[in-house]
Amino acid sequence: MIWFWLTLAVIIVGIATVVDFSTESKSELLKERVLFIFAHPDDESMFFGPTLEYLSKHRNVQVHLLCLSNGNADGLGNLRQTELVNAASQFQIPKSNIKILSDKRLRDGMYERWDPIVIGKHVYDYMIDKNIRLAITFDKDGISGHPNHKACFYGALNASKMIVDMQLFTLKSVGFLKKYLYWLDCCRMVIAKLLFSKQKYITIEAQRQSIRTIRNAMIEGHRSQMVWFRYGWIYLSRYMFLNTLEQVLS
Ligand SMILES: [Zn+2]
Repeated sequence: MIWFWLTLAVIIVGIATVVDFSTESKSELLKERVLFIFAHPDDESMFFGPTLEYLSKHRNVQVHLLCLSNGNADGLGNLRQTELVNAASQFQIPKSNIKILSDKRLRDGMYERWDPIVIGKHVYDYMIDKNIRLAITFDKDGISGHPNHKACFYGALNASKMIVDMQLFTLKSVGFLKKYLYWLDCCRMVIAKLLFSKQKYITIEAQRQSIRTIRNAMIEGHRSQMVWFRYGWIYLSRYMFLNTLEQVLS
């Protein structure tokens, strides 16, 4: 019986790699410069990998990373900064396009409350300085529910009040089952794609080679974070294979 389910899973994931789930065009994201806003070194690879990989294939798109803390909750901040640069190189993102903040008001931690106005000012400064008008960040639920992730969303919204032509896309948070049973969700999406043509999300699925790149960014880039349970995330989580983005500002 187990072989039946395994075979079914392989077939569904196989179908998923050739079906384009998105009805909103991915080309919406292909601007000259795109900024990812996230809370900690490793968020970019753990959550945004498929989108980073998709954009990095387009030579005319410059990808920038704004990391709001150095992830120093366990005292590894300096190491994690270096790891972010290493991981980003897997996506062809140069060090010059990465900014890691060290603002005492934005300390890494589950119990740290980050002021959206402070974040908004940092985002505004970076986007104006680099002439960027499209940003991608977490949604209001922050995927894992981490308060620092959620703060990214509210901070980006704040920046948008100061940058009138800013476009903002957020990465959709999903429930536990969808998060870890990627192939079951693929099944649902294949059916939804066949039955409904209109969906409001941009969906980016990583192809086989891209999945390898995303895994390498995490495993080789963020070595200090590779405790045993992270492998469960890398091999089972949908965010290593699939990103669903929603445009909240246009
Ligand atoms: Zn994080």
